[in-house]
Amino acid sequence: MQILDGKSLALKIEETLKEEVQLLNKKQITPGLAVILVGDDPASQSYVNMKAKACKRTGIYSTTHEMPKSITQDSLLQTINMLNQNPNIDGILVQLPLPQHINTTTILEAIAPHKDVDGFHPFNVGRISANLEGFTPATPMGVITLLQAYDINLKGKNVVIVGTSNIVGKPLGALFLNHKSTITLCHIYTNNLIEHTKNADILCVAVGKPNLITKEMVKEGAIVVDIGINRLENGKIIGDVDFNNVAPICSFITPVPGGVGPMTIASLLQNTIKATKIRANL
Ligand code: NAD
Repeated sequence: MQILDGKSLALKIEETLKEEVQLLNKKQITPGLAVILVGDDPASQSYVNMKAKACKRTGIYSTTHEMPKSITQDSLLQTINMLNQNPNIDGILVQLPLPQHINTTTILEAIAPHKDVDGFHPFNVGRISANLEGFTPATPMGVITLLQAYDINLKGKNVVIVGTSNIVGKPLGALFLNHKSTITLCHIYTNNLIEHTKNADILCVAVGKPNLITKEMVKEGAIVVDIGINRLENGKIIGDVDFNNVAPICSFITPVPGGVGPMTIASLLQNTIKATKIRANL
């Protein structure tokens, strides 16, 4: 069994990006990312802090727009419009989830597609689904980059994805399909989940339930990608896979933390620099 070490790979990617930023700086260009955080959810705050720190490490200019939970949808839209017009901002990211009174789709659709570094605008969703150039959501992008870094061939593989959210499972399915994998998407209403997971050459799990995937559900030699992040009462972070019992029967497995999480941040930085290059016609 080999660990898919997202932490080390993310650091390597950051080093390359740092050099790219320095080259851009020589042309008087600085990549810029604006992050909008609504409310005071501790998990969201922690993700936004991690993104801001990663920008700082790589030389990307970043601003965080913190807004109270009571903010109106119109005020939020005004901020997005302002950032759409701001020439120093290449990427705009709205940290999800948003409060109930705000229509998430309306907000995501307000972001200019060429600044949509999270890849959640229907324009980019459509382009990625059609295997065209566009912004790929950071977590699915990170998963594919991680597998490719370990020379794992995706073509013809049976890929089973458990969890079908718009931000993780569905776009991940589209990416695997673009790489000619055979995909099965499972969700809460899937009957006999084990029948599907047992078939997986590559099993990806993005649900948010500790130990959902047990040893019995995994084929010997499978590659397991655990995307789940669950914060236990004692503060420990674990994934959706029963790591201790599943790892020994896998060929590859991601740890949590240190697997997909750091790859998500690295992919966001990559997307921001891609947006900068588009802006600068490079
Ligand atoms: P979500 O709540 O939007 O979707 C959960 C999905 O899991 C749904 O499709 C639902 O049908 C499915 N599901 C729920 N219970 C199930 C069950 N018992 N069996 C099979 N399917 C079931 O979640 P999300 O936003 O996609 O996040 C999923 C997990 O991934 C969370 O733990 C989240 O913290 C984590 N996450 C991690 C990263 C990262 O960078 N590593 C990024 C985003 C999300």
